[in-house]
Amino acid sequence: MDPRDTLNRPLHDLRISVTDRCNFRCTYCMPKEVFGRDYEFLARQLLLTFEEITRLTRLFVGLGVRKVRLTGGEPLLRTDVEELVAMLAAIEGVDDLTLTTNGSLLERKAEALAAAGLDRVTVSLDSLNDTTFQAMNDVGYPVAKVLEAIEAASTAGLGPVKVNVVVKRGVNDHEVVAMARHFKGTPHIVRFIEYMDVGHTNGWRLDDVVPAADVIATISAAMPLEAIAPNYPGEVANRYRYADGSGEIGVIASVTRPFCGGCTRARLSAEGSLYTCLFATGGHDLRAMLRDGADDAAITAAITGVWERRRDRYSEIRSAATAGWEKVEMSYIGG
Ligand code: SAM
Ligand code: SF4
Ligand code: SF4
Repeated sequence: MDPRDTLNRPLHDLRISVTDRCNFRCTYCMPKEVFGRDYEFLARQLLLTFEEITRLTRLFVGLGVRKVRLTGGEPLLRTDVEELVAMLAAIEGVDDLTLTTNGSLLERKAEALAAAGLDRVTVSLDSLNDTTFQAMNDVGYPVAKVLEAIEAASTAGLGPVKVNVVVKRGVNDHEVVAMARHFKGTPHIVRFIEYMDVGHTNGWRLDDVVPAADVIATISAAMPLEAIAPNYPGEVANRYRYADGSGEIGVIASVTRPFCGGCTRARLSAEGSLYTCLFATGGHDLRAMLRDGADDAAITAAITGVWERRRDRYSEIRSAATAGWEKVEMSYIGG
């Protein structure tokens, strides 16, 4: 029997962080003040190996997981990640194998990833304006390179590409129409994400969040939009299409319209801890079980137990009461 958590939610999606490292320092995710030169990332031997990730994924699939997303940190920094993609693609029952990336290494990896069996990619790009984008990625990375990566991914068959835009008030919110317009009429789907209070290093303030409804209203005033049905129950993004039929966009309203009730996602950190919420305060160490020689039945039982005890609905109860929790950084547990 596939497990259900205490709110009767099944386990359908697995997000796997393959590294806690990143070559960007997005101010909302890995601010330089915290992730500076002296920051100690995980030592290689602490990371799950590809064999360990594959074994765990197979066990998760046995419990109902159908969608697997590789993330990080920056997943394409993990050496030979396409080999992991091939190993995961070979697991029967993985219906959707995707990866979220900042795009910096995608142009050179797209063909190999597609050949290995990756279905699609999501590429993060917060602005089309170099000054804004470089202030957000904080390493001077240019917009043009990410746009080239999106095209390379599309050409390699990894489309339609989803383009993730984190909207932060006073930083890039004046550019949402330009962003939408750029991709209108292409197969790519821009998704505007409300800035979230992930971890405890990004200095989040509610004032910095631009409600998704405002983003939709702004874009719709310039290019009329109409809401469309989700692709499947529990889809995180709310979908809209242009009234003139020239494509679609999405918004992810994690702050203003939380979707915990339909949240079927588990997260595996780069060092093999299982988290049942993006905002979790602690994980369950599966690497120790793997390396202590636990058999499949024991690991499956552990995962089942964690899921059956799951009560998380952080976004729904986000409030003063939760301020001060020791949350885990997104770059560590995987976005
Ligand atoms: N490095 C890859 C990338 O940036 O696409 C994958 C990991 S990143 C943590 C996954 C996604 O989380 C990205 O689209 C990023 O923009 C988003 N993200 C990171 N911090 C966020 C925050 N505080 N609020 C909302 N989204 C955030
Ligand atoms: Fe790196 Fe992605 Fe976080 Fe930006 S959002 S710092 S690219 S992990
Ligand atoms: Fe899922 Fe936690 Fe996000 Fe709610 S806050 S949608 S439970 S990850």
